[in-house]
Amino acid sequence: MQNQLTTYLRAGYPGLAVISSEEARAEAEIAAACTSLKRRLHAWSSTEGLIDTNEGRITPCPDPLEAFQLLDRLFATDSPRHVVLMRDLQLHLDQTDPMLVRRIKDILRVAKSNGHSLILLGCRLKLPAELEHEITHVDFSLPGPDKLGVVLDGIIKSAKLKTLRDEIRESALQSALGLTTTEAENAFALSVVETNGIDPRIVAREKARTLKRNGLVEVVSATTGLDDIGGLGLLKDWLQGRGGAFSASAKAYGLPAPKGLLIVGIPGTGKSLTAKATAGAFGLPLLRLDMGCVFGGIVGQLEANLRSVIQTAEAIAPCVLWIDEIEKGFSGSKSSGNTDGGTSSRVFGSFLSWMQEKEKPVFVVATANDVSKLPPEFLRKGRFDEMFFVDLPDALERAQIWEIVIKRHGRKPADFDTVVLSRACEQFTGAEIEAVFIDALHESYADGREPKAKDILEAITRTVPLAQLMDGQIAAFRHWAKGRAREAASHAASTPTAPRNTRRISSQVN
Ligand code: ATP
Repeated sequence: MQNQLTTYLRAGYPGLAVISSEEARAEAEIAAACTSLKRRLHAWSSTEGLIDTNEGRITPCPDPLEAFQLLDRLFATDSPRHVVLMRDLQLHLDQTDPMLVRRIKDILRVAKSNGHSLILLGCRLKLPAELEHEITHVDFSLPGPDKLGVVLDGIIKSAKLKTLRDEIRESALQSALGLTTTEAENAFALSVVETNGIDPRIVAREKARTLKRNGLVEVVSATTGLDDIGGLGLLKDWLQGRGGAFSASAKAYGLPAPKGLLIVGIPGTGKSLTAKATAGAFGLPLLRLDMGCVFGGIVGQLEANLRSVIQTAEAIAPCVLWIDEIEKGFSGSKSSGNTDGGTSSRVFGSFLSWMQEKEKPVFVVATANDVSKLPPEFLRKGRFDEMFFVDLPDALERAQIWEIVIKRHGRKPADFDTVVLSRACEQFTGAEIEAVFIDALHESYADGREPKAKDILEAITRTVPLAQLMDGQIAAFRHWAKGRAREAASHAASTPTAPRNTRRISSQVN
């Protein structure tokens, strides 16, 4: 932040905002910027009043209107140049006091003419429309490995631990990326309490819990690989070709980090599975962004929510950011556009621009079921590296899915005729194939035996695939995808070859 802040202060920006829950770290950076520019720093809070940090002089003034009166005097001349940091002014702005809004506008005007600056610092900012164009946001990223290293050293010293081995230290710092300094300190301290040392796995576990609690992004453990996906050969080939692009040697070669991928398709066909397998194949951590939560909260928090998502993803980068049901973002921004003067659409628009222009290696995998909600500008070239359409699996793919599903549930695929099963479940999605197998497992468990093909075939006949209920929508989906999206699978050879164990399985069926 310090560079950007220094530039804004030097350029004479009168109104700045730093949004962060890390008050102490943000204040230290603001103080450092003021020192380097030889500006006089003052800090106001309703509890302490206005403090001249150079002289330590305190003027009590719990009401911000009183503080602005003092600032009128302070800003009256252009030398020395002052920077006034205001803590939690948002709480006063929430009261929508027209006097306060007007006072801020007045003081910004005086500040501008004499080269002073006002910095609003808090964990959120929802400005009234009157101030939206008067205040400039300063990016405040989460701490990187260097700053987290200082925190870690502090814990090691206070717990009197031995110096960590290099690989443990690096792994602990990597595990803490995406946390604030306080959250990282807590995670390190917890590790000391639980293990009497620093265990990167505990730090990673605490990070996953912390991010989940914050409710926007979630760390998903990516134990899935491309081999866990049945079919979708073209999509898997594409991913395999991009796997090495995040390595140091690819960077040295001058290869730009891939931006991301949009996967649209019929529900249950493996889009989410592919997002997870991408992280596994790339060897990167996976973050899942819940669009429903981002848009589900208070409209005023949307901007802060999306900023926090970007900060977390960039701090953890290189990583895969999976945006599940991205179409909800568009419907969310559209519906709230009626009530918030289009703020949500604008905020979501800037998030989409970030997706396209980001410099940090965050690979976005966006998945969508409902293409009717995706506006054309979202689909334009350059937003993603590629867009894939996932159709219903063909016979060959269904056989592959059967193999994977049977194995996933601890049984041997060789004990079943996956060709027969594949033929019996035409129009089934991968999710439905798995559901059928689980159904068959329940039946056989109730009878106290292992599942047979007969159980599976019966479960198939009990199931009406979604595709039968929504054949019109699927036809429309296919029509939409033609020319717009690449097929995720090559359906050239769709007849599965008979496996070696056909005869034995046929007898099971009978
Ligand atoms: P939705 O759009 O409803 O979220 P989706 O397309 O993301 O569905 P998944 O959630 O990936 O579908 O699939 C659900 C489950 O079905 C997977 O966890 C997996 O067990 C199984 N499955 C679906 N497709 C495949 C596939 N191609 N290969 C193996 N398993 C699959």
